[in-house]
Amino acid sequence: MENKNFRTWLDNMQLNHPLVIAGPCSAESEEQVLEIAQELKNTDATIFRAGVWKPRTRPGTFEGNGAKALPWLQKVKEKTGMLTAVEIANAQHAKLALEFDIDILWIGARTTVNPFAVQEIAEAIRDTDKIVLVKNPINPDLELWMGAIERFYKMGVKNLGAIHRGFSSFRKSKYRNIPSWQIPIDLKAKYPTLPIINDPSHICGNRELIFDVSQTALDLKFDGLMIETHCNPDEAWSDAKQQIKPARLMEIMDDLKVRKPRFEKEESVSKLNALREEINAKDDQLLETLAERMQIVENIGKAKKESNVAVLQNTRWQEILQKVIEKGEEQGMTKEFIEKIFKAIHQESIAHQENIINS
Ligand code: PEP
Ligand code: MN
Repeated sequence: MENKNFRTWLDNMQLNHPLVIAGPCSAESEEQVLEIAQELKNTDATIFRAGVWKPRTRPGTFEGNGAKALPWLQKVKEKTGMLTAVEIANAQHAKLALEFDIDILWIGARTTVNPFAVQEIAEAIRDTDKIVLVKNPINPDLELWMGAIERFYKMGVKNLGAIHRGFSSFRKSKYRNIPSWQIPIDLKAKYPTLPIINDPSHICGNRELIFDVSQTALDLKFDGLMIETHCNPDEAWSDAKQQIKPARLMEIMDDLKVRKPRFEKEESVSKLNALREEINAKDDQLLETLAERMQIVENIGKAKKESNVAVLQNTRWQEILQKVIEKGEEQGMTKEFIEKIFKAIHQESIAHQENIINS
């Protein structure tokens, strides 16, 4: 997928900071929208966001002002010169957003999961030169995210970008939606020219973590940030806990460190290359050790076959796991990391022994 238009647009803006999309979760009233926009004018925000149609988890809560709020966004553009962005979730929203000349359309996480809805929207905005940003699906599924982006591309929408807003999980976590950074990193590898914006607001679900998540995003070379901003966050009609005041947005932008894309000095480059060589050698060693371990696992498999003993020996496995976690922690690694690695090794070992015992 060649998607250079939004990237070119971004480069042409010549911002000396990442792209910032800011504004309330929901457009609550004309006054609220204009007040926030006036304050955001003094910040790094270039694009004003506001939800007009709100996908709410439970019915009976505020579901957005609908089309009536679109002229408020036009006023924002007139009065502040900021570009405007709304979420569209069906063909009707898409038609209205185009009619009211909204500059940026984004696809919400709950819509990206549904190929029928995405297809319907893509057909409704066929060949548009508006910028379309596709949020990740709620579940951690890279293919589904890519599929949604491709549906727009195939309909001639070429000003595409992605928004990383984290993933829903049943695991308890300090985040509302866990970031699983590897997924947007994988998306970047698949579509190197596609700009990716980070949405720390929906990842965090609370104000306190927004700075740290934004910094991680910049460390990972994300192209921009979408941050929910409200003049009176505690009174917001949706997502009150995660919204910040424009003044706080300004502080955050001042404190964030923008990283250089690569090392510049000759000596730093050669130092880095030497360290990378060391890493390569360690990776070779790791692979050799794993292969040798697998050989022993296979010998155990043969012994199990001879004596008709079950592949899974749970007591032994628990012993191993406990021991490696303890040792790993002593060496400065987290329990989660060690557990993940050894569970993967155990699973592969079981598969090898299964092949042997059933051959
Ligand atoms: C939003 O941006 O306000 C929103 C509803 O986001 P998401 O689709 O990421 O939940
Ligand atoms: Mn929100």
